[in-house]
Amino acid sequence: MSLAGQAALVTGGGSGIGEGIAKRLGRDGAAVLVADINAEAAERVAAEIAAAGGTAVPCRTDVTDEASVDAAVAEAERRLGRLRIAVCNAGITDRVPVLEMSLSAFERVLRVNLIGCFLTARAAGRAMAKAPGEGGRIVTISSVSGQFGGTGRAAYGASKGGIEMLTRVLAVELAPHGILVNGVAPGPTQVARTAHGPRQRAAFLDRMAVKRYGTPEDVGAAVAFLCSGDNAFIAGQILNVDGGFASSGVMYD
Ligand code: NAD
Repeated sequence: MSLAGQAALVTGGGSGIGEGIAKRLGRDGAAVLVADINAEAAERVAAEIAAAGGTAVPCRTDVTDEASVDAAVAEAERRLGRLRIAVCNAGITDRVPVLEMSLSAFERVLRVNLIGCFLTARAAGRAMAKAPGEGGRIVTISSVSGQFGGTGRAAYGASKGGIEMLTRVLAVELAPHGILVNGVAPGPTQVARTAHGPRQRAAFLDRMAVKRYGTPEDVGAAVAFLCSGDNAFIAGQILNVDGGFASSGVMYD
């Protein structure tokens, strides 16, 4: 129970990778605010954490809305105690060629992924900085799509690349407040909404040294480590949880 009693907030905690992160933090003893725009999903995950013996509270939160994010942090502190951990995970995806992309579609992805990450990290950082002696941990969730060009990934890739630079700047600015900020970049990860066809799946697996898709539990384990006392000196890093995807070049038989 390395996170025993620590209040944690996970955005997008109602499904997929965020659910895996929330459940892992809950299992490690953290008291988790499951913040998601889908209130029912947040309630289900919080109930499942509680049923497993943990502590969790659901909170309908829209990361694109400054007031909603600030309210989620306040709710976490009111219900669970001083915020020690925040995971900026909520995100949406798309795959649209640039020449066909509307301004509103591009802005929507940037708004949820990048601005949502900024608003969450800022609100959490402000709360944590009030008690610098106690320390804090913020983890952002980017993607290997923030590191490699991929067709149709203009908005999504730009949002994730932006998150990685935001993470480095946050790390530098918040370390003096006792807050360690790092990022996790998942590779292809199997979640309920994953709908890759056989060609795409084979292409991804070809690049992955570990020949399987990642799981929300794989990402949750990495986040739990970065938030634990075992991490006292890592700041501003992006940890790829991608089965070697980002390290592979041309594959030879
Ligand atoms: P998902 O769709 O299963 O989960 C995303 C969650 O975010 C949902 O519960 C959704 O309701 C919530 N959400 C969406 N908009 C929101 C908003 N405005 N405010 C609050 N919550 C909102 O997707 P996922 O695959 O679990 O993605 C989680 C994160 O992991 C995203 O940032 C995504 O970019 C990243 N990621 C996923 C993969 C993958 O292969 N699944 C790979 C790399 C990175």
